[in-house]
Formats: sequence, C-alpha cells, structure tokens
Amino acid sequence: MAERPTITVIGAGMVGTCCALYLQNEGFAVTLLDRGGPGEEASSGNLGGFGVASCPPMAMPGVLRKVPGMLLDEEAPLRIRLRHAPRALPWFLRFAANARRGRVEANAAARQSLLDRAHEGIDPLVAEAGAGRLMRRTGLMFTFESEAAFRGAAYAFDLRRRNGVRMDLLDGNEARQVQPALSQSVVRAWRVADFSHTLDPLRLVQALAELFRQRGGAFRRTVVHGFELDDEDRVRAVHTGDGRHPVERVVVAAGVWSRKLAAMLGSRVPLEAERGYHAMFNGTDVKMNGGIISVDRHIAVTPMLDGIRAGGIAEFAPPEAPPDPAIARRVRRHATALFPALGSERITEWMGPRPSHPDSKPVIGRSPRRRNAWFAFGHDHLGLTMGGITGKLVSELVAGKTPSVDLTPFRPDRF
Ligand SMILES: Cc1cc2nc3c(=O)[nH]c(=O)nc-3n(C[C@H](O)[C@H](O)[C@H](O)COP(=O)(O)OP(=O)(O)OC[C@H]3O[C@@H](n4cnc5c(N)ncnc54)[C@H](O)[C@@H]3O)c2cc1C
Repeated sequence: MAERPTITVIGAGMVGTCCALYLQNEGFAVTLLDRGGPGEEASSGNLGGFGVASCPPMAMPGVLRKVPGMLLDEEAPLRIRLRHAPRALPWFLRFAANARRGRVEANAAARQSLLDRAHEGIDPLVAEAGAGRLMRRTGLMFTFESEAAFRGAAYAFDLRRRNGVRMDLLDGNEARQVQPALSQSVVRAWRVADFSHTLDPLRLVQALAELFRQRGGAFRRTVVHGFELDDEDRVRAVHTGDGRHPVERVVVAAGVWSRKLAAMLGSRVPLEAERGYHAMFNGTDVKMNGGIISVDRHIAVTPMLDGIRAGGIAEFAPPEAPPDPAIARRVRRHATALFPALGSERITEWMGPRPSHPDSKPVIGRSPRRRNAWFAFGHDHLGLTMGGITGKLVSELVAGKTPSVDLTPFRPDRF
C-alpha cells in the first residue's frame, strides 16, 4: 500500500486543531505540534460565541475620531500600552486606512463569506467528537442602555442586515422576557435567534484534539524555534525543542505567534496581539437564556458549564506582558451592572491574545515564498467561529482542490 502523504501543523489552538482534522479527512498523516496542551492559549478563555452575526470589522467609519479619547480614557474599550505604541503605530496606520467606508463594506462582506459557512465547518467535527453536549443554540442579544447608543450603532446593524443576518428588535421589557436577570437599564436589544455558543471553549478544543488522536494523529508537545529551508523554495524541516523534525508540508496556525514564524518563511504580516480579558463567575445561581453583547459597555456575557463568563476589551500590548488587573476589574464591574444578581461568586480572571490584522480578516492561503507551507492565522475576535471552516479551506488548498470559498480577500500577500 502506498504511504500516506504527511503534513505538520504548528499550533493546536482552535484553528490548528481544525486544520489537522480536515487534513486527516483529505487522507494526510498529520503531526500536530504545540508547546502547550491543545487550546490552552487564546482559544481557552474566549466567550464561546459562534459569532455568525459579527461581520462588522474593528475599523469602522468614525473610529479614528474616537481613538485619541480612547487612549486617555481608562474606561475605553481600546487600550494601548504606552511603551508598545511605537511598535503598534504601523498597524494603526493600516487600521486607519481600513476605516474608510468602501473598505469597511468589503471587509464585512469577506468576513461574512466565512461566517456563512462557519457551521458547515465546525458542526461535523463536533458531531464526530461527540462534543454536542458542549454546544447550545439559545440565541444572542445585542443590548443598548441608551437611545444614543442604539442610534450610534445604526450603521453596524444595517451592515449586518445587508449581509444577511436576521435580527428582531426588542424593547427593554421584551429583552427581559428572554433574559429575566438582565438589568432594568437595558432599553433596547437586537436579538439573533439562530445563534450557538459553546459551554466551554477549552473543553471543545480538547475534545477535537482527542478525536484527532483517536483517528491516529500524532500530537507532540514541543516548541518550534525555526525552519530548515532548501534552495528550491521549500521547507525541509522544523527545528523544535526536541530537535529536527523533517516535514513534507507544513501549516502555520500559531495564533498571534504566527507573525514570527511567517517572517522566518519570508512573509511579513501585520499581526498584533489584541488582548482580551474575561471574568468568570464560577458556580453562580444566576440563569441566562443565551448570550448577550452589551454595545454600550463593549463586553459579552455567556452562560458556561462552570458559571457565567463576561469578557471583552482590546488591549494592544505584547502577548507575554503581564495582564492589567484594572481592566479585569472593569470587566467584572460591567458584568454586575448588566446582571445585578451577579457578584458574590468565586471570580477567576483571564487574559488572552486575539491574533489581529488591521483589516479584521484572517490570512488563509499558501505561503507566497515557500511552496510546501500554508498559513492559517489572524482570526481576531472570531477564531472559535471561523476555526472549522478555516480548517476545511486549508485542507482543500493543500489537497490541490478549488477552495469552496473565494480566498482572494484572505491572501497572505495582500498587505
Ligand atoms: C476575551 C476574548 C473573547 C473572545 N470571544 C470569542 C467568541 O465569542 N467567539 C469567537 O469566535 N472568538 C472569540 N475570541 C477570539 C478567539 O479566542 C481567537 O480568535 C482564537 O482563539 C484564535 O485561535 P488560534 O488557534 O488562531 O490561536 P491560539 O488559540 O492562540 O492557538 C495558537 C497555538 O499556537 C501555539 N504556538 C504558538 N507558537 C508556537 C511555537 N513556536 N511552537 C509551538 N506552538 C506554538 C500556542 O501554544 C497555541 O496553543 C475571543 C478572544 C478573547 C481574547
């Protein structure tokens, strides 16, 4: 019998693990490398939403006027560590260029092209992994505590509607009929009925990684330091903490750390750590019916297996810099303002780096410089949602098939 073709995936977060599974579907013998356990970085502490209603990119019209105020305001949803500002400046210049209306419309449409296929990517994997118990389809509400906030968000919600997102407008009382524990301060809400979340993103990735192993995949816990390249534009081996690991093909899916690995393969990508925080209200008695996103407070709140998780905020700082406890406290305060019955539980806090490009689109494609390398990273706020479909698309590319989504907007050399 002919030997199966082999491939090595670097990074066992949501994205890399889904790539590994879909590559197995295409008949590859896959080795998955991670310096830690599967899903333990950004993929562990997210808010669990399959964000199919989140096509609006981060750079929206008018955002630039708000940035100076945000930098000075400790309560702003976007923070930049002062010492990090010079390094982040080129990223912000590209971000500014993406806030023009034409770019916003194009970036939103590109994001929606992946979001429309998100469930096609993840659902078969969840079913095969027997992880359906970690999923709920109970809807999402975007809440508003003032008419001004509602009016201010009109363009973003029109963008959603024009990209096919179906939403119902509720007043405050109707919102509390769906979500009885919600504060009286909520005056309006857009509800997305057809919306799923996971009850634990870390356990979900672990279940997917277990499926990968059961199918015969090899998981190796080791750090990748670099690559051995030949004169014919190919990667010959990866250098790991355990020594040289020969490769026939390689996928870089290392979240925010992909920037460094891509640079070693000759591609410069503007990838920054957009660090988010969560506060977990463990074992709470407060009941939620689906998740919410507070447009005024820039946080999301999701019911999970172990309690209620609230999180958000975008802090631009190196991924390894210590977390800012003031931001975590702020998340906690907003959560208790939205759900006044919360607060007496054991609260745990977490920070993780979203891998973010200035145009709010991931990179999915073949390395421009190395013929046997592919890239899958930069999923910012939507890596849980887009992981499954990204894995499917990467496997199609590697297998030489025409990808089932137009990948032009996600090309690695677009910057
Ligand atoms: C507060 C918060 C809330 C969020 N909420 C949502 C949400 O509701 N819905 C949603 O879709 N998304 C959400 N996200 C975004 C989502 O978490 C990320 O987009 C996603 O986790 C990125 O997955 P990844 O696999 O690309 O990266 P990661 O999960 O960071 O995985 C990268 C992996 O690569 C490994 N690695 C890196 N470098 C090396 C190396 N040199 N050698 C070996 N291994 C290496 C790391 O150890 C890590 O395991 C949220 C994020 C945050 C911070």
